[in-house]
Amino acid sequence: MAQPKIRKQIRIPKETPEEKRARIAKIIRKLRELFPEATTSLSFENPFQLICATVLSAQCTDARVNKVTPELFRNYPDARSMSKAPLAKLEKLVQSTGFYKNKALSLSHLSKAIMEKHGGNVPGTMEELIGLRGVGRKTANVVLGNAFGVPGFPVDTHVGRLTRRLGLTKHLDPVKVEHEITALTPSKDWTDFSHLLIYHGRATCTARSPQCEECELLRLCPQVGVQ
Ligand code: SF4
Repeated sequence: MAQPKIRKQIRIPKETPEEKRARIAKIIRKLRELFPEATTSLSFENPFQLICATVLSAQCTDARVNKVTPELFRNYPDARSMSKAPLAKLEKLVQSTGFYKNKALSLSHLSKAIMEKHGGNVPGTMEELIGLRGVGRKTANVVLGNAFGVPGFPVDTHVGRLTRRLGLTKHLDPVKVEHEITALTPSKDWTDFSHLLIYHGRATCTARSPQCEECELLRLCPQVGVQ
């Protein structure tokens, strides 16, 4: 597959914060038209299932995670049961998601921490979530936005790439991207905006060959880093 040519210098369009806010609002509106169904692709029934699925989704597709989690949660439906699971059994259950030894260990540590610090219930604040071993801001934002209805803006590889190409940030650090975008976007849109960027990143603005000529955002996008 042909690689897009990369401009040597990242160019951010000159615009005031107000202009950037207005452009973000237009981008969100257009993406909502394109992907009215956009939501997390991970299957879950409660916050515990979502935090586990998010851990498993590192370096793995959501579709693959969704194949593994039904059996995982049949065996270990909550933090109490998973905290007592033999590591070898967890490893076997999550093997096909890749990096399974690390992921099984993370699930074990995570469920123990949820038991010890929160009596078995996944906490619903950013501070408490990132206080759990192995939980970073991305995972915390996924759980807040999708399981608790608390606005969160998870920055994964698609969101980072698209916000840079769209000239909304020049940061590479996901935490800095999150802070910059959330400062310019109403909190009610944070969770949606992240989902929408992921959908658009999968469909059109892919990592290797963005389809700019066919992109509905072309008129709103400076195509930073893409020729
Ligand atoms: S115009 Fe190109 S770079 Fe911009 S969002 Fe669309 S596909 Fe991505």
